[in-house]
Amino acid sequence: LSQGLEKAWDMVRRDGELTADNIKAPMREIRRALLEADVSLPIVRQFVASVEAAALGVKVVKGVRPDQQLVKVVNDELIKLMGGQQEDLVDPKDGPQVILMAGLQGVGKTTACGKLALALQKRNKKVLMVATDIYRPAAIEQLVTLGQRVNVPVFEMGTDAKPADIAAAGLAKAKAEGYDAIIVDTAGRLQIDERMMRELGDVRAAVQPTDTLLVVDAMTGQEAAGLVKAFNDAAELTGAILTKMDGDSRGGAALSVKAVSGKPIKFVGTGEKLEALEPFYPDRTASRILGMGDVLSLVEKAEASIKEDEAEALAQRLLAAKFDFNDFLKQYKMVSGMGSMGSIMKMLPGMSAITDKQLGAAEKQFKQFEAMINSMTAEERSNPDLLAKTASRRRRIARGSGHRELDVTSMLGTFTQMRARMQSLSQMLKAGGAAGAPG
Ligand code: GDP
Ligand code: MG
Repeated sequence: LSQGLEKAWDMVRRDGELTADNIKAPMREIRRALLEADVSLPIVRQFVASVEAAALGVKVVKGVRPDQQLVKVVNDELIKLMGGQQEDLVDPKDGPQVILMAGLQGVGKTTACGKLALALQKRNKKVLMVATDIYRPAAIEQLVTLGQRVNVPVFEMGTDAKPADIAAAGLAKAKAEGYDAIIVDTAGRLQIDERMMRELGDVRAAVQPTDTLLVVDAMTGQEAAGLVKAFNDAAELTGAILTKMDGDSRGGAALSVKAVSGKPIKFVGTGEKLEALEPFYPDRTASRILGMGDVLSLVEKAEASIKEDEAEALAQRLLAAKFDFNDFLKQYKMVSGMGSMGSIMKMLPGMSAITDKQLGAAEKQFKQFEAMINSMTAEERSNPDLLAKTASRRRRIARGSGHRELDVTSMLGTFTQMRARMQSLSQMLKAGGAAGAPG
């Protein structure tokens, strides 16, 4: 890649080694992305420190550029942070598999019971679900309804018995009737409280679960850390299920669970349907994060997808902090589908179908943007602020390109976001330059 962008990576490349100095700028960017994804500060610090330590210990490999090595180090550390291997449920040699669900109210525990019941059934297991949420009669009904949908019976004793007694009776029934697995649903509260934890402890003691899974809403931000710690202290978790990954989560929780509790995320919930449960794969998740999220891969992709002279020109413009509609079209194509960590985390584990769909959508959007930009005058193309100011211009472009004015406004929004992103990248390049790269 040519001079401008290369300048920043020159720092990394000096002597062909990763040094404390030359990884500073990219590390700052990584730190910013993690904080933006709502990962809690201690975890961000720990992660950044581990990347720095690992990067400085990296042996130089001939033929592999140091900046690529840094990408690999970040990738490896992300995988480690999320637990390394995919981990499945504990399958006991004898006796039924006992899965206990824990978590706050509304996070998706009961739904996850139904999803796991379906998944275990597909593994040819005979499954029983047990309803111990005695505080809301509707909660028992909800589990019974889910059970009917997946053809799994639900054991319940109404709302008068103690949760631990219900769980024990459910387990006894499972043993007597040859069930392979029981899934125990529990009540949650809006906040962590002592009574919930005590009750959970009692249920746990009564059934000795093979798995105690904390169900966490992926939208949980920084408070995920405290939540995971409290439940792990009270109930010795074996893992977690991260739900609502289909929603608008920023993904911080995904990076916090293992770091705080030492326990892996075993599954993710990706929708309200009972089929919407997937194993959690740290390696795939890490490559998604890197593949879409950070400046390092942005530059790598830039190398591959834009010609040298264009890159040179763009780099110059970036350094001058200029970015107009002409740059936008080029860049949009290159980075469409890339976002901050937030949008990436939506595409978690093995959801390549969704990724393809989203890429298709990006392509379609690119076509629309292209049509709109083609309807602009040369002046408008190089001076985007004209459009922001004048509604009649926006209307003319909408008409000319066969879109609504609303579409033009929304394209302007996307443009503005990308310009901001590019400007921060340019600041990073400048900061990099200032840090004293040679030539
Ligand atoms: P509980 O209080 O923890 O038992 O939570 P529920 O299982 O009753 O779920 C609360 C709400 O979240 C329900 O409306 C569910 O349909 C919804 N829900 C659960 N899991 C998911 C998920 O993975 N994605 C989405 N979009 N919604 C979910
Ligand atoms: Mg429930």
